[in-house]
Amino acid sequence: MKCIKCGTPAFTKLLTSNTPLCRKHYIEYIEKKVRYAIKKHKMFSYDDKIAVAYSGGKDSTVLLHVLYKIEQHYPKSELFAIIVDEGISGYRDQALRIALKNVKQLGIPYKIVSFKDLFTYTLDEIVLEVKQTPKKLTACTYCGVFRRRAIDIGAKSLGATKVATGHNLDDEVQTFLLNLVRGDIKRIGRLSPAYSGMDVFIPRVKPLRYVSEREIVLYALAKNLEFHSDPCPYSSSSTRNEVREFINKTEIRIPSVRENLLAAFDIISPLLRKNSSDVTIKRCKKCGAPTSSDLCQVCKLLETIPKMRNFNIVKKMTSSK
Ligand code: SF4
Ligand code: ZN
Repeated sequence: MKCIKCGTPAFTKLLTSNTPLCRKHYIEYIEKKVRYAIKKHKMFSYDDKIAVAYSGGKDSTVLLHVLYKIEQHYPKSELFAIIVDEGISGYRDQALRIALKNVKQLGIPYKIVSFKDLFTYTLDEIVLEVKQTPKKLTACTYCGVFRRRAIDIGAKSLGATKVATGHNLDDEVQTFLLNLVRGDIKRIGRLSPAYSGMDVFIPRVKPLRYVSEREIVLYALAKNLEFHSDPCPYSSSSTRNEVREFINKTEIRIPSVRENLLAAFDIISPLLRKNSSDVTIKRCKKCGAPTSSDLCQVCKLLETIPKMRNFNIVKKMTSSK
């Protein structure tokens, strides 16, 4: 099998078009997809201060490397990494080691924000605490919401104007389908490739939204990137996994299933956004974060943890400026 562009031995064959590409042209192909996403959705301006939400996993490692390369062409922009330490023993410590290795290799300034510093407790400690409560929310519920806030606080403290996250094509279409099957249509209108709505202070962008999970792993292999791949001890079987399996099975007959779903999402989401002007963005009564209700997600969740009911995140937000 020979690369269609240069005739050298192929590194891989693109799934959707059966096109063989060598390592060099495969790398170019992926980087072109990222540039396309940035341009199409006007993700950045030439002088943005971009904070990459960096975990050390495959997606954010690839994102960091591609943005590093693109950013070289924009001397007025800045790039840094926000590394969140949720406090998951035996898991996050390893990821952190790899994340630090990558940012140091590239010479990218970084900031580590930990749950322990921000919320007084690690995720492990929060999970132990909520085990005793009747609601027993999952680790992922706390992790997702608190991590988003941690990234915001870290990015704000470095003066970031954009937060770039490693959400890939698979993540995007899974979230779309999940909201469809749950009947949460309004939420589909709120999902966007460049997001500056509820619960975040700094606009978020997803430059990897056209790159599938498989393509990301291949890019990391092609460039010999080191990333953390162990599964989180809290990850459990969820509806998202069922949706993932459905897409993977469908792919056998329809190789472009992800691209087709994303195209549908991109048509439907803006239409729903237009019709959902009824959602007014307020300020959380406790911490001042943008929210659709009286309390933001973080403050709502803090109330479910007995020893954190009176915890005031505002103090932490202002002290880390
Ligand atoms: Fe957090 Fe859940 Fe992901 Fe683990 S699987 S890192 S707990 S969101
Ligand atoms: Zn709040």
